Amino acid sequence: MQAHDAMFIDGTWRSPLGTSAIEIRDPAHEGVIGEVPAGVAADVDAAVAAARAALPGWAATPPARRAEHLIALRDALAARREEIADTVTSELGAPLPFARAVHADLPITVTGTYAELAATHPFEERVGNSRVFHDPIGVVGAITPWNYPLHQVVAKAAPALAAGCTMVLKPAEDTPLVAQLFAEAVATAGLPPGVFNLVTGLGPVAGEALAGHRDVDLVSFTGSTAVGARIGAAAGGAVKPVALELGGKSANVVLPGADLARAVKAGVANVMANSGQTCSAWTRLLVPESRYEEAVELAVAAVARHPVGDPRADGTRVGPLVSAAQRERVTGYLEKGLTEGARAACGGPGVPAGLTRGYYVRPTVLADVTPEMTVAQEEIFGPVLTVLGFRDTEDALRVADGTDYGLAGAVWAADEAEAVAFARRLRTGQVDVNGGRFNPLAPFGGHKRSGVGRELGRHGLAEYLHTQSLQL
Ligand code: NAD
Repeated sequence: MQAHDAMFIDGTWRSPLGTSAIEIRDPAHEGVIGEVPAGVAADVDAAVAAARAALPGWAATPPARRAEHLIALRDALAARREEIADTVTSELGAPLPFARAVHADLPITVTGTYAELAATHPFEERVGNSRVFHDPIGVVGAITPWNYPLHQVVAKAAPALAAGCTMVLKPAEDTPLVAQLFAEAVATAGLPPGVFNLVTGLGPVAGEALAGHRDVDLVSFTGSTAVGARIGAAAGGAVKPVALELGGKSANVVLPGADLARAVKAGVANVMANSGQTCSAWTRLLVPESRYEEAVELAVAAVARHPVGDPRADGTRVGPLVSAAQRERVTGYLEKGLTEGARAACGGPGVPAGLTRGYYVRPTVLADVTPEMTVAQEEIFGPVLTVLGFRDTEDALRVADGTDYGLAGAVWAADEAEAVAFARRLRTGQVDVNGGRFNPLAPFGGHKRSGVGRELGRHGLAEYLHTQSLQL
């Protein structure tokens, strides 16, 4: 993927209106691999104007026709699957097999689900003597993070386009290349000019301009809770809807009687995936106190089956972190954990053997963690598992719910009914029961400080619709 030195606005690549650029580094070797323009408010103005001008035509396009466009977009992405995986590996550092199976295939699947939903969703319904219309909400400003750089773009763009909205995307500054590839796919798919626009740039400049733009009808943001809170406050002031997908500190609860070995193995794989940079990762393993040491040993053994190294090397399961800043952040949390009394059962602060270049950290299991420790409360965003013990089921529930977040989680029990009963008491958005499979149609999103709103499936589509009712 060759970096564009332009913005994708109104169906063409336009020269940026600012003069600065953003360098993109490959986190596996720290070298610069490209640069993209740093957008300014005037770029955002031009992109929003293009989206506004395209809105009446796209909103009036029959949903079945929008579905055809989304199928063309899915096919354009699928045709470039290998290039998507390669690009995400280069700018994020994700191991290549994971980049193919998740970073490329998941957004292709999700685009397909929204083609189907556009074709089948009841955009008009009868409620008694009323006709209720579900109309596109308007111009969407989408702001996305770097950790699943194409999935998070598609999780907003596909439902927005299916709903009949037009949009402007401001992707994360660390991973803009795959967003540019997405814009190319939009062009290949023949979507009308102005329906999708891309402005690359820094959060406090281009992101802030988009989030606060008067002519944007909905801001959909995925990223940190700190920035999300700021965007939510601005939207509140302007009385505009906002969708916020924020951080997490999810619990993997292994109830007495569950298959501990299976639960720990799955939990470690979940935390190590994407080098631990997953908002919904089960970063806290909760086990009965009576089986605590056994669980720690199982976790250490499982981590050993996740070799860290070059994301393009055979056998690598954990790559580098995305940036030097993230490596510092994760290392800082590891040090703080040890200072507060946790024990590194494996890993710990420092660089993995032989990996002095690249933003690598050591996959770590932190034992002797108590619920009030910083490492049990705050999002670390690296390949770090914390292990906590609980006395009984009520204690497990208290510990699992005892953070500001509520995004995801997992429950394991001897039988499904017991696990479901426990999961239903958790204040969290999405729970995997006894290793339940990921479902791209199930609503995804947070309780508490993990966010507002839902993505994926028909619940994700609803975020981009508003209703009008006519009483007859
Ligand atoms: P971040 O909040 O720093 O950045 C996210 C996006 O917001 C980027 O595009 C950035 O440029 C932009 N931004 C930054 N400051 C801004 C401002 N003042 N105004 C407008 N936009 C601004 O987050 P990050 O470090 O890129 O991503 C990691 C975070 O994202 C983690 O907390 C993670 O849990 C969260 N996340 C959540 C989900 C979810 O679905 N809930 C998914 C992935 C990541």
